[in-house]
Amino acid sequence: MLATQLGFAQTKDPVVEAIVKEANENSQLEPLAHELMDVIGPRLVGSPQMQQANEWAVAKYKGWGITARNEKWGEWRGWQRGVSHIDMVHPRVKSLEGMQLAWSPSTKGKGVTAETIILPDVADSVAFQKWLPTAKGKFVLISMAQPTGRPDYNWQEFGTKDSFEKMKKERTALTEAWRERLRKTGFNNRTLPVALEKAGAAGIVMSNWSSGFGVNKIFSAYTKKIPTVDIALEDYGLLYRLTESGQKPRISVQAESKERGVVPTFNTIAEIKGIQKPDEYVILSAHFDSWDGGTGATDNGTGTLVMMEAMRILKKIYPNPKRTILVGHWGSEEQGLNGSRAFVEDHPEIVKNVQALFNQDNGTGRVVNISGQGFLHSYNYIGRWLSKVPQEIRQHIETNFPGSPGAGGSDYASFVAAGAPAFSLSSLSWSYGTYTWHTNRDTYDKIVFDDVRSNAILTAILAYMASEDPEQTSRERIVLPVDAKTNQPATWPAPKGPTRRGGLD
Ligand SMILES: [Zn+2]
Repeated sequence: MLATQLGFAQTKDPVVEAIVKEANENSQLEPLAHELMDVIGPRLVGSPQMQQANEWAVAKYKGWGITARNEKWGEWRGWQRGVSHIDMVHPRVKSLEGMQLAWSPSTKGKGVTAETIILPDVADSVAFQKWLPTAKGKFVLISMAQPTGRPDYNWQEFGTKDSFEKMKKERTALTEAWRERLRKTGFNNRTLPVALEKAGAAGIVMSNWSSGFGVNKIFSAYTKKIPTVDIALEDYGLLYRLTESGQKPRISVQAESKERGVVPTFNTIAEIKGIQKPDEYVILSAHFDSWDGGTGATDNGTGTLVMMEAMRILKKIYPNPKRTILVGHWGSEEQGLNGSRAFVEDHPEIVKNVQALFNQDNGTGRVVNISGQGFLHSYNYIGRWLSKVPQEIRQHIETNFPGSPGAGGSDYASFVAAGAPAFSLSSLSWSYGTYTWHTNRDTYDKIVFDDVRSNAILTAILAYMASEDPEQTSRERIVLPVDAKTNQPATWPAPKGPTRRGGLD
């Protein structure tokens, strides 16, 4: 249902008008984005940049007169990304586009130069064990070579129907064959690099294409001593074809990093104390950590910006809220909602008094959907609050009540599991899944500031309305439908504990 169909009359509210004016005429989004994404950079859990970001956020809040602190919730392997430099040096020289994966072991000196070899298509795991010594001293290519570097939408636009269909068929067959090739080694994506490392390989070379022009997803390495690098589709294909045709290409890999032992991990918490009901909470929520192929601009720099800007505006326009407005910038969402799960575990007194929580974590786009997360009466209060949001913003938002409880995906789920009315402000995609989510291209230039500004206004107004609401929100849950598979009524997601010590053996 569209929020516009809810039928609430919109009356003028001076606080709402002041929020909109401040957001539009004194926006701090651009400088905040520059400082966070460009100056500090990506925020991998356990990296010095993550801690720098925690300190930066506290300083920003204090500068706005908002109480803020970094709350330790765990420990992680401390790792600092250094230089990644990959060159083909034979049969001709070409610098390759690629980078080491997160937590890849460091190369020493000028790096490693060695020949490339392709993961072989063996009969079974016994044959693979026999082959393994061949990997010694070689860079092993463990990904399939993509048959096309053009995304499907490009084929759709320009290809004949026949050639598009043919390409897709071919790609499906290749993908299936490569899965089979992997399976027959007796290892999986995680264990294969380790087996190759044990066999003395010089390094692991892969390409995790994200199905768009120029995008690869950059996750973590599993090797302990040898580098693991991801190479862009174009250069990976080049190496693969040269290896296959017997040209014996050699690459030189310099992938430096620093191990920093065990480091503490934090959530950044800031709050504007409530005047009438200080023990009831409206929570603004967005994870602060990111993967580090890009700068985490849309995952979740933009969610972070929305919450920071909303807090800044609220402090200025609505400094004496009825209820406490608290913001949580969670650490290590990417490894399993760890920061927010820890907060839920550590602060039952807050969680049981949550009036509402708003989380944003799916890109830079304007909010287009809000689900009631299975709270039976969410329609009433969210509908009331949304009625105050300017029509230009509200018109894009579809609501879905009562919805069903989210079990994962982002930090609101940690609170929903604990029974707190927590909601996801869900964004328009802007090709998030393909182009920015966990990719090497998740950078400042992908931020759509007008949409982020609209989200900051929305969030500030929702927080204001939730704080002012004369009623405490209902936590009554819907009766969940019967699960088609088990024929049993579905159950509410159960709270899960965080990983408090991560990345360490
Ligand atoms: Zn995220």
